[in-house]
Order: sequence, then structure tokens, then C-alpha cells
Amino acid sequence: MKKVIILGSTGSIGKSAIDVIKSMPGDFKISALSAHSNEEELLKQAALFNVKQLALAGKKPADKSIAYYSPAGLLDMISETDADIVVNGVAGSDGLLPSIASLKSGKNLALANKETIVMAGSFITDIALQTGKKIIPVDSEHSAVFQLLEGKKKEDIDEIILTASGGAFRNLSSEELKNAKLEDALKHPNWSMGTKITIDSASMANKGLEVIEAYLLFNLPLSRIKVLIHPQSMVHSLVRMAEGSLYAQISEPDMRVPIQNALTWPKVGPLLFGKLDLTGLSLTFQAPDFEKYKMLKLAYSAAELGQGKCIIYNAANEVAVDAFMNRKIDFLGIPHITEHAIENVNLKRIDTLEDIIEADNNTRIFVKEFLGEYIKKNGIWNIY
Ligand code: NDP
Ligand code: MG
Repeated sequence: MKKVIILGSTGSIGKSAIDVIKSMPGDFKISALSAHSNEEELLKQAALFNVKQLALAGKKPADKSIAYYSPAGLLDMISETDADIVVNGVAGSDGLLPSIASLKSGKNLALANKETIVMAGSFITDIALQTGKKIIPVDSEHSAVFQLLEGKKKEDIDEIILTASGGAFRNLSSEELKNAKLEDALKHPNWSMGTKITIDSASMANKGLEVIEAYLLFNLPLSRIKVLIHPQSMVHSLVRMAEGSLYAQISEPDMRVPIQNALTWPKVGPLLFGKLDLTGLSLTFQAPDFEKYKMLKLAYSAAELGQGKCIIYNAANEVAVDAFMNRKIDFLGIPHITEHAIENVNLKRIDTLEDIIEADNNTRIFVKEFLGEYIKKNGIWNIY
């Protein structure tokens, strides 16, 4: 029986992970759970699965049975809990240190938190190599590519094609994006996910982060990581071999499938979440419009320019999305701010974890100042 820690258990990925474990009771046992501040839900989950090791990263718990709290407490819980694998479903850049703590304390990492790879790249993949632990991607596209690459030689791979739904605004023109509303950005056509990643899907920053994630995880030249819009979200990604054959991974858009795959790896688990019937389905693909989806274009340039720019891309987007969700900027403010940060944040060489954290912090300070000054000078920066 595998022992599993679920980080971010009260979120979209966390709840899906719990669902998978509930469906395979003889195979997995939950040894620890964590949330940011949703104490009530965390306690409910703990009672249901008889979990004693609990952490709240974002506030002091009222209930004494939650022994770990604060970001540092979360790291202690990871290190002090006996487990085989950690599902990291923490949202945002705060997922990085828990990923490092998981690998360093000898656990495999089922990684949904794409920010870990985007921010830390080879720094984190080197830790996995040194500790002999595995990073198993949960992000559906990377889970697909991870499985498609198994048993294949790197030199035989021509390209990786990540699919993208196109998000909530896939039917809007660039011009129409100027008036895009928060309420509409939150309506993802295919997936039900946390709010930040849903906004990122609408701007395609999510695909931008995923291009960087694939580039750093799978070690192919950036020019061989491609994106195709596939509105049905059934083909989760493709790998093209040197002789031209395309291999695809196809299933319903349900995050429980890649989570199950990560948890059962290297074995293949049983059928739990339905068999996709291809009869009558029409699967379509189109090239993304890089002018409309500026965040996708910016991600490619950040990846080209190196690790520091990827950290800036991620942090600037996080602050900008937060401002959009608080109705301080309009939708197109997100790429505008991110581009400004990529071009202007001072950056030194990224060698250590401290360098990564400093670049992340400096970007957040820079963007908040930029936003504050802009709003002071021009009035509120939005269309609402
Ligand atoms: P949610 O917002 O739904 O959930 C986030 C979880 O993390 C919650 O349990 C939350 O706790 C906790 N959390 C939030 N902030 C912190 C923090 N600072 N420190 C510790 N814990 C925190 O997010 P998602 O589940 O949608 O996404 C999680 C990650 O997975 C993201 O990196 C996302 O990009 C990635 N991902 C998600 C997919 C999806 O389908 N949702 C698909 C592919 C990748 P609380 O409830 O208390 O706030
Ligand atoms: Mg994805």
C-alpha cells in the first residue's frame, strides 16, 4: 500500500486526488493533508480518512489537532511524515518549497504545481536526480507526454505538441479581448479548476507556463515544443517521432486520470473514470494566434532568455491576475504588465534557491509599484 501526502487537499487538484484514493482503497493510504486557510474542509477530510498529520500554511488553526501551521510548518510536516509520494496541488509559487521538501525527504513527487518547474527548472530536476526520486507530472499535457515518452529514445523524438483548449475567450477576436470581463474569464469551456489557472487558460498564460514546464522537464530544444488549439480537450498532448508518426494520449478531460497515473506509476491502474467512446467524436486542431494570445508569445521569449525571465514571467503574471481578479486592471493589462516586467526587472544570475526566491520577490515588488504608479497617474486602470 502506497502512503500519500496531499498538499492543497482542499483545492481542485487536491479533491480530485482524494477521489482517486477513495476509488482505490486497497492501494493507497493518506498520511498527511494540507490547506492554506480552509480549516473546516481540511478537518472534514481528515476525519473521513483518519489522517493525523495536518497543516495549515496560511493561518493559525483554531483546532488543536492541526499540529503544523505557517509555510515553515508545512515544510516540517512534509519532512516528518512517512510517505512514498506527495501530490503537490498547492496553487502558485508557494508550491516550490514544498516540492523541494518532498524530494529531499525521500518522496516521489506527483507534481500539479507547474510553478515549481517554471521557477526552478534544472535546480529541481537536479534535486530529483541527486535524491533518486521521481518527478511525475500531473498537469494533463505533461502527464500525457511523460507516458508517451516512456520507452522512447530522446534522439528519436522530433517534437512535443501540447494541446490547449483556447480557454474562455477562444471565440473572441483580439479586438473583443479589450472588453473581456472577469465573470466570463472564469467560465472555462471544458475543465473545472481553481480560479487562477482558469484565468490563465483564458489568457493562455497557462499554456505559456506549460511550454516552459515541458521545455525544462523534457529537455528538448524550445523550437521543438509546439502548441495546438484543440477545443474538445480530449487529446491531451502528442509526440511526433523522427520518421513523422504522431502518438497521442486521448481521454475525457478529467484530472483524476493523470492523478491516478501519477499515483500508480510505474504501474497502470484499473479503469475508474469511464472509457472514452471515439464513435461520432470530431477532434479538431488549429494553430494559436500569437498576437491574440500575447502571454503565449511572452512565455516562449522568456524561456529563450533563460531561467530568470521565466521566474519574472510567472511572478508578474501572478500579481497581474490578482489585480485583474480584484478589478484593478482589465484583461489586457495582464500581458502588458508581464511584458513590462520581463523587459525591466533587474536580474542577476540564477544559481541558488535564494537567487530564485529573490528574483520572484523583486518581480512582485516591481509590478506592485508599477501598478500603483500607473493607477495614481491615470486613475483606475480598467474598463469596468
Ligand atoms: P485551487 O485554488 O483549487 O487549490 C489550491 C490549493 O492550495 C488549496 O488547497 C489551497 O488551500 C492551497 N493553497 C493556496 N495557497 C497556498 C499557499 N500559499 N500555501 C499552501 N497552500 C496553499 O488550485 P488548483 O487545484 O486549480 O491548482 C493547484 C495547482 O495545480 C496549480 O499550480 C495549478 O496550476 C495546477 N494544475 C491544476 C489543474 C486543475 O485542474 N485544477 C490542472 C493542471 C495543473 P485553501 O483551500 O485553504 O485556500
Ligand atoms: Mg494543463
